[in-house]
Amino acid sequence: MTPSHHPSAATLFDYGSGSLSEPLALAVVTHISMCAECRERLAQIETVGGVMLEDLEPEEMSPDCYAQTLARLDDTVPIPFLIGDVSAVDSPFAGTPLTPYLGGVGELPWKRLGRGVAAVDLVRRRNRGTRATLFRVSRGTLLPLHGHRGREMTVVLEGKFFDETGAFVAGDFIEHDAEMVHRPAVTSDEDCVCLIAVEGRLKFKGVFGRLIPLFVDM
Ligand SMILES: [Zn+2]
Repeated sequence: MTPSHHPSAATLFDYGSGSLSEPLALAVVTHISMCAECRERLAQIETVGGVMLEDLEPEEMSPDCYAQTLARLDDTVPIPFLIGDVSAVDSPFAGTPLTPYLGGVGELPWKRLGRGVAAVDLVRRRNRGTRATLFRVSRGTLLPLHGHRGREMTVVLEGKFFDETGAFVAGDFIEHDAEMVHRPAVTSDEDCVCLIAVEGRLKFKGVFGRLIPLFVDM
């Protein structure tokens, strides 16, 4: 199936220039691995970026440039990339950019978070709440209404879900900013597996929502 929801041009540019955090970059590259259109868009962005770099006049480096670079290395993470060797992983997501994050285990270590929801933690960055998680949501499950403290990027891997902004199927990429409050729901015909990368902890709404963080580490 061809995805019909894609990363914005700004997000693709951020991915191409290496300025996304690892969890968000993983979401983008996972979509790219499923979307020929975005592979093409990314190639164009990289071509334009290369031309712009060639046009830049070399600048003299400031004396503390090296120290600044070292300080930034803490923040810099390798961008997940498309890989070919998947032999060690026996899971539905073998052969995807998720493979290096699955630990080479056969059965995925799903952790039950609540009724109808299980998760596998893939990447978590200390102190900032930025992380990428695989979620498996049972058919017919309505998730709590929640907002965000930063960007949220979702890639549908299997099944489908919908929220206030639309309906999404495998391959689709959904991007929400900190303003967005939504209540995703999974259709009643099949389970849905998504990769979700978020910056900052989620903000739950309502009585049920306030109870959720007590037992769900999201
Ligand atoms: Zn795309």
